[in-house]
Amino acid sequence: MKLVLATSNKGKVKEIKYIYDDMDVVAYSDLIEPFEIEENGLTFKENALIKARAVYEALHDENLIVIADDSGISVDALGGEPGIYSARYAGVDASDKDNLNKLVESLKEKGLTSSKAHYTASIAIVTKNAEFTIHGWMYGSVITTPRGENGFGYDPIFMPEGYDTTLGEMDGELKKSLSHRSQALKHTKSVLHSISKHA
Ligand code: IMP
Repeated sequence: MKLVLATSNKGKVKEIKYIYDDMDVVAYSDLIEPFEIEENGLTFKENALIKARAVYEALHDENLIVIADDSGISVDALGGEPGIYSARYAGVDASDKDNLNKLVESLKEKGLTSSKAHYTASIAIVTKNAEFTIHGWMYGSVITTPRGENGFGYDPIFMPEGYDTTLGEMDGELKKSLSHRSQALKHTKSVLHSISKHA
């Protein structure tokens, strides 16, 4: 089964290839010229589907299966912000550091030093006959003092439930075993195996 990833992000491609080692996995940008996809959905699920559908249609090959993901962090004390806007919380061209700083400032403005929060990963699968969406979550809390250099994005301020270290201080393998994306990718693998049996 040939699986096309609707991303050209090298980190995501590597992670997915590692988990799906029994499948023929390729980034869409290795097949066609990469193009801008407007993520104008209102949920992680909608945005993942928008990306997967856009790439499936651009490929013009009914035998291909496309998967796309969308993810972010939702902070309870901020009414679920930044949510689907996680990658652009401090502006369209904001860096991970700008976004993290904005989140810290938003908590401080409310006089808080921490809040419950969770990461969500949504994965969409688009095939000739069907569409599926699968989710994974990681629950915990965010703090206003960043700790550790590992990971990316909001990792230095996120502490998973049951741990007193941030993801920034955590070993990459441990983060992988807990992460929202790993949970979603694991379940997606079962769906893909089922699709290949019935194809
Ligand atoms: P996406 O690439 O559109 O899914 O954007 C995901 C954004 O959510 C990233 O830019 C990060 O800011 C944030 N994010 C998602 N997953 C993680 C994670 O595992 N660690 C830290 N930040 C994450």
